[in-house]
Amino acid sequence: MTFSASILPVFEQLGLLEEACKLSLPFKGLQIYSMDMKLMGDFDFRKYKEKTGYDTILFARPEMHHLLLSKIPPNKILIKKKILSQLQNEHGVMIRCADNTTYHGDILVGADGAYSAVRQCLYKQAEKAGVLPKCDTESLNVGHVCMVGVTDPLDPEKYPALKDDVSHFERIIGAGTTHSWATSTVPGNRVCWLLTDQLDSSTASKEAMFKNSEWGPEANASMIRAYYDYQAPIGGTMGEIIDATPAELISKVFLEEKLFETWHYGRTVLIGDACHKFLPSGGQGAVNAMQDAVILANCLYDISDPTPENILTAFKSYRSQRYDQTKYQMDKCRKIAKMIWGQTIGDKIFRHVAFHCIPKAIQTRMIFKDTSYRPQVMFLPRIPNRGTVDVLPQIPYIQPLVPHPLKVSKVTFTSFDDRAFAIKMCYMCFSYGNYTESQEDKQTLESASHGDTSLTTAPSVEPVDNAQVARVSMAREIYRFNPKPVLIKVKRMQYSSMAKELELTP
Ligand SMILES: Cc1cc2nc3c(=O)[nH]c(=O)nc-3n(C[C@H](O)[C@H](O)[C@H](O)COP(=O)(O)OP(=O)(O)OC[C@H]3O[C@@H](n4cnc5c(N)ncnc54)[C@H](O)[C@@H]3O)c2cc1C
Repeated sequence: MTFSASILPVFEQLGLLEEACKLSLPFKGLQIYSMDMKLMGDFDFRKYKEKTGYDTILFARPEMHHLLLSKIPPNKILIKKKILSQLQNEHGVMIRCADNTTYHGDILVGADGAYSAVRQCLYKQAEKAGVLPKCDTESLNVGHVCMVGVTDPLDPEKYPALKDDVSHFERIIGAGTTHSWATSTVPGNRVCWLLTDQLDSSTASKEAMFKNSEWGPEANASMIRAYYDYQAPIGGTMGEIIDATPAELISKVFLEEKLFETWHYGRTVLIGDACHKFLPSGGQGAVNAMQDAVILANCLYDISDPTPENILTAFKSYRSQRYDQTKYQMDKCRKIAKMIWGQTIGDKIFRHVAFHCIPKAIQTRMIFKDTSYRPQVMFLPRIPNRGTVDVLPQIPYIQPLVPHPLKVSKVTFTSFDDRAFAIKMCYMCFSYGNYTESQEDKQTLESASHGDTSLTTAPSVEPVDNAQVARVSMAREIYRFNPKPVLIKVKRMQYSSMAKELELTP
C-alpha cells in the first residue's frame, strides 16, 4: 500500500512521519510488463521527493495499522462492536450494536467501509423522507476480484531486489486471460503481492452473489491455483511467493467503485469508502479517507454548540470541500486501472496511447498535479510546503453562528499578492454562507479590491514561514473578525478553478 504527499504533511503534523517512513520503502516507480517480461509502460516517481517534499512511501498494511492504533489511547476504542442500526433526531444520535449495547452522541461518523451499515441505515431514513437521489439506491459496480498478501522474510540472494533501499513495484499483465499480478518489496526482506482478475458483467454478478458465502479457504485456493505457475515480477514463480505467505496475511476482496451523492443526513455523516469507493489502482482510497477525516475535523472544530443547524453547516462544508476532489480521483483511478491491468480491447488501446503516444512530461505533470491538493489540520501547527510544486490553499471553515459581533481591527498587507488573495478568499467565504453584508463591509471590500493598500481585517496572523499558508490563515482570520452577516451574490467558484485564478494573481 502507498501513501503520497497528499496526506504525508498530516502525518508530519501528528508527529508520525518518521515512524511511518521507518516501516516503509520509498516508491520510485511502477513498471508494467507483458508475460514475456517486455516493458509495456512505467510510471516514474524518481523526482517525486524533490518536487513534493516527500517520498511516496510503500508499506505492508498491517504495520501501518499497528502504528496508527498504537497512538490512540486504548480506552478510546471499543473493538468487536458491530453496528446494526442507527437512530437520530434533533437531540442526538444513537447506535445499536450486535451485542445489544447502545451508544449515544451528538454526531455519528460512519467510517465503516464500502458496505457501510451506517450508510444503509442513513439511506433508509433519507429515502423515507424523500431526499435520497435514485443513484444512491443503486449498488456498487464490481469489476474485479483481487487477492493480496505479505510474505515472511525472503532470501535476498534469491530475490536481489530485496537488497535495494527503494521499493520495487512491478506488475505483469497476462495474455489471453483476465489476470494480472504484481509484487512490491517492503522492509524486512518481505514482498507484498497482489492478484487481480478482471470480471465481465456475468462473472461480476456471480461473484457478488457468492461474496459472503463462498469466500472460504477453498475459494482462495482456487484463485491461488490459477496464478500459481505464473512468473513473479520479482523472480521465481507466484506460487513460491504465495507459499511464503502466512495464511492469515492473505485476503481476497472485491474491487468495487462508486461515488455516492449523499454524504450526510441529520446528525450522521459518512467518510472514506462508505461514501466513495475507488479502484485501488491509484493508491488513493485510504489517502482520501484520511483527507475526509482531516476536512471533517476542521469543519467540526469550530462548532461551539452542536445544534442541528451548526452540524448541518459543518457537514455541508465538509462535503463541498471534498466532493469534487473525490470525483476527480475516482475518474483518475479508473483510467490508471485501464493502464495497469485493463484486459478489454478498449483498455489495451487506452494503455498503448497513454504509454506510447502521450509525452512523458505530461504523464509526470499529472503525477505532480495530484500532490497540490494536500489539506492539513487547521487547528494544529501548519507544515510548510517542503517541495517545489504549488500547494492549493485550503478553504477556511465558516463559523455558522458568531456568538458576539467582534470589533473589526486593521491590518496592512505586506504585498499586493497577500491582499488580493485575502480579498478573494473573503468573497469566497461569503459566497459559501447565507450572510448579509453591512454597507461598511461592502465598501471596505470594494475599496480594497480597487487597489487600496489596507483592508479592515484581523489583528494578527499566525507567523509561519510559508507565504501561502500565511495567506490562507489570514483569510480565515478576516472572516473570523469580520463576522457581520454578509449577503454578497458572488458566483460560487470551484476550489480548483479558484486556485488556478489565484496562481494568475500578480
Ligand atoms: C488491494 C488494495 C490495495 C489498496 N492500496 C491502496 C493504496 O496503496 N493507497 C491507498 O490510499 N488506498 C489503497 N487502497 C484502498 C484502501 O484500502 C481503502 O480505501 C481504505 O481502507 C478505506 O478506509 P475506510 O476506513 O473508509 O474503510 P475500511 O478500510 O473498509 O474500514 C472499515 C472498517 O469498518 C468496520 N466495519 C464494517 N462494518 C461495520 C459495522 N457494521 N459495525 C462496526 N464496524 C464495521 C470494518 O471492520 C473496518 O474495520 C487499497 C485497497 C485494496 C483493496
